Amino acid sequence: MIKKLFAKLFNPKAGAQHTPSSTVPAVTIRSTLNNAKSEPKKSEREKLKVQKPAQKNKVKAHNGVIISHKTHHIDVNLISSAALKTTEGLQKAGFDAYIVGGAVRDLLLNRTPKDFDVATNATPEEVNRVFRRSRIIGRRFRLVHVLFGDETIEVSTFRGSHLETNNLKDNNDAKVTDSGRILRDNVFGTIEDDAVRRDFTANALYYDPENQEVLDFHNGYADIKAGVLRMIGVPEKRYAEDPVRMLRAVRLSAKLGLKIDPATQSPIANMADLLQDVPPSRLFDEMLKLFLSGHAIESVSALREQHLHHGLLPMLDVVLEQPMGERFVMLALQNTDDRILAGKSANPSFLFATLLWHEVLAEWEHYKKDGDTNIPVIPALHMAMTEVIANQAEKLAIHNRYTATMKEIWGLQPRFEQRAGKRPFGLLTHPRYRAAYDFLLLRCESGELPTELGEWWTTFADADSEMRTSMLQADTAPKKRRKKPRRKVQTTANQNTPEA
Ligand code: ATP
Ligand code: MG
Repeated sequence: MIKKLFAKLFNPKAGAQHTPSSTVPAVTIRSTLNNAKSEPKKSEREKLKVQKPAQKNKVKAHNGVIISHKTHHIDVNLISSAALKTTEGLQKAGFDAYIVGGAVRDLLLNRTPKDFDVATNATPEEVNRVFRRSRIIGRRFRLVHVLFGDETIEVSTFRGSHLETNNLKDNNDAKVTDSGRILRDNVFGTIEDDAVRRDFTANALYYDPENQEVLDFHNGYADIKAGVLRMIGVPEKRYAEDPVRMLRAVRLSAKLGLKIDPATQSPIANMADLLQDVPPSRLFDEMLKLFLSGHAIESVSALREQHLHHGLLPMLDVVLEQPMGERFVMLALQNTDDRILAGKSANPSFLFATLLWHEVLAEWEHYKKDGDTNIPVIPALHMAMTEVIANQAEKLAIHNRYTATMKEIWGLQPRFEQRAGKRPFGLLTHPRYRAAYDFLLLRCESGELPTELGEWWTTFADADSEMRTSMLQADTAPKKRRKKPRRKVQTTANQNTPEA
């Protein structure tokens, strides 16, 4: 009895009804406070154990609309156990914690979420103390990654809206540019503040697995049910704060089949140029999400319609205007979409290699024809590759780990045209053969190369060694002259003795 009273006093949720989430092993305060580095002393630990819940666990008054399980029907079994352990661990430590953002939206749209994010009133340091396997990351937005096996749950502290209310331009926690773009945002606030800072109404829903309720502050539930993607607040201002939201509008509407609300849509065409100020690495991450969403074709078409692609993929403007280039890029995107929707992986290097290929081809031609320098074919290709990647990096920096593979895929292409002697056998054993071969097939399918070349390689790769030999073409390449072995110079003791 006393025990129960104690539990109720310090953790009102402990007395709550049994819900499916309580079957998840609890993350106990003791087991989560053993981070060697930041481990508080025993007395502090005791304080945390008792005082935190007492301080933080006052039942929060919020002005959100509560949507019960009876209405939303979210199946708690579709939520990853790592996400459930995270909210439960935080709640047991006395904090508020919800699953938020894309995961709630996707569950309401009967889609399987690809990742789960958690929002809480615990500060990053507090979250870090609750979970032994966690680390604080980020500068622009400080977050905590909580690790469970190979799954990572991103936990963010409710963001505040102090930037606007205090007209604060720059301090340690927050920074905005003169145009209103947010550079740093580490001011914390309430759940309402947090909801208003999110981008779309559909992304501002908070699900508490413990009572299975969804909190809705911006009519997101109704918008999802009506199939509408609507910006929270004044769209122009929200795009100025973060121009990437324009790309997110296009990506999420294509991926989820939501219609962009007219007021959310209309400022985009005029504001597209703001993307030029976004750091290239952030644009790369967003474009990667877009291309790997399983809806790349629709997304790229929408980007073009809204003139958003200009700053991002400068070469795409040119490529898509030539029929052959457009066919090649669209085939590549269709291929990627098919793979993703079939649950297969898609290699970003391959994808970016396809997007930039026609630009490489144009530069390659240019170098080959450069009469003054007379650059041989292969060095000309390498020069073209380097140049195209450097031009691209100014707008949207493709990570080095991808550009190395892209160069290999491109660099192997001339070798497919050599079908005599030992060379085709060597190519088959190259570690990038498969990607380069798939790339070749796209070139054939788009009409850039004869279909027969792709078919030859398909048959050659499948054939036994006898058939392979019979398939080889006559070797017309000039024979390499064998170097005569150098005669050994007799070494004598006085060889280095200077002549008298
Ligand atoms: P996806 O399915 O692609 O993961 P998502 O909406 O979950 O879509 P995340 O990048 O995972 O996208 O972001 C998680 C949540 O964070 C979003 O749902 C939204 O609430 C918020 N968010 C993300 N980016 C922004 C942004 N640029 N401005 C405001 N809120 C954002
Ligand atoms: Mg997400």
